[in-house]
Amino acid sequence: MKEKIHPDYHETIVKCACGETFTTGSTKKELRVDICSSCHPFFTGKQKLVDTGGRVEKFNKKYGIEEQNAKE
Ligand SMILES: [Zn+2]
Repeated sequence: MKEKIHPDYHETIVKCACGETFTTGSTKKELRVDICSSCHPFFTGKQKLVDTGGRVEKFNKKYGIEEQNAKE
């Protein structure tokens, strides 16, 4: 009974547009993203994607990635 103190928070399968899949913690069962740690320019160090509409910023907020992680 006391195990139900948390909301419906579990491992979520995240599917990226690049084909990569990974898991994260979320209340959703499945997520679809345009960028992930495999194709994210901050992680790859390559500017594969042009961040014109704050996509990277949104991505970071969505997954709680702080600015410090964006630095090499
Ligand atoms: Zn990706």
